[in-house]
Amino acid sequence: MSSSPPSSSSTRALKIGIVGFGAFGQFLSKTMTKQGHFLRATSRSDHSQLCQKLGIPFHRDMDEFLESENEVVLICTSILSLSQVINSMPFGSLKRPTLFVDVLSVKEYPRNLLLQVLPEDSDVLCTHPMFGPESGKNGWQDLTFMYDKVRIRDEALCSSFINIFSSEGCRMLEMGCEEHDELAARTQFLTHTIGRILSEMVVEPTPLDTKGFQKLVQVKEGTVKDSFDLFSGLFIHNRFARQQMQILEEAFEKTKQKLQERLDNTR
Ligand code: NAP
Repeated sequence: MSSSPPSSSSTRALKIGIVGFGAFGQFLSKTMTKQGHFLRATSRSDHSQLCQKLGIPFHRDMDEFLESENEVVLICTSILSLSQVINSMPFGSLKRPTLFVDVLSVKEYPRNLLLQVLPEDSDVLCTHPMFGPESGKNGWQDLTFMYDKVRIRDEALCSSFINIFSSEGCRMLEMGCEEHDELAARTQFLTHTIGRILSEMVVEPTPLDTKGFQKLVQVKEGTVKDSFDLFSGLFIHNRFARQQMQILEEAFEKTKQKLQERLDNTR
């Protein structure tokens, strides 16, 4: 793991094709457009009207999208749909060696799949911006950008892409995909799980709120803004998440048991 920033000497406009133009793809596109990169997009749903407003060409046809000489293909689909999306891409339509970058919130799974299915001359950069439309709405300064240079031959192109994030002031964190998943299960997955549990209860602001309770409400509200697909993906495609769920269950049982013992002793 290293958090030294990559060289900032590599600013140039890139041709970036976004696959999956949902909430997160749209969010990233705003900053990339502001920086002067040339974007195009494709997605399962028809986002052509929005793209037209944003000045981004939208392709319904994947052949056409891949033929359009993107230097970078940025994968922003849901974790659950990755396999279907990747396996239906006609890679024969690529006109040049391409850098494939994913932004999925799990990392071993896309790394393994991309290495398995992409043409050998494609480079692979696995990333996880540790922020989203809510936490990054006022800029990306000091927000963490995790990346793993899984298979990089064109270093200049890779560092130009990484520079999109470092030039916005992100905290750059180079880390292996396995270490990412282990830590993310203990941090992000735990937060989302607690938030989802709270959302199954009535956890709303009251006139009597403590600061601690206000933070709980924030956790609940923050996590339910993300799709349930995203949350399920964190569980299904991170092998460390199952273990974390078990630790949480055991901790809950242990806490209940301790209270029960106190109750029994006061009788
Ligand atoms: P999401 O629910 O995880 O993904 C929505 C995207 O997946 C949309 O582009 C949607 O396409 C596509 N999709 C869903 N099911 C599909 C299917 N069956 N076939 C093809 N495409 C399908 O929500 P998100 O917040 O936009 O996240 C996108 C990715 O970014 C995820 O991998 C997530 O882990 C990652 N990420 C998100 C955040 C965040 O804060 N939201 C932060 C870091 C990383 P259509 O729009 O065309 O329907």
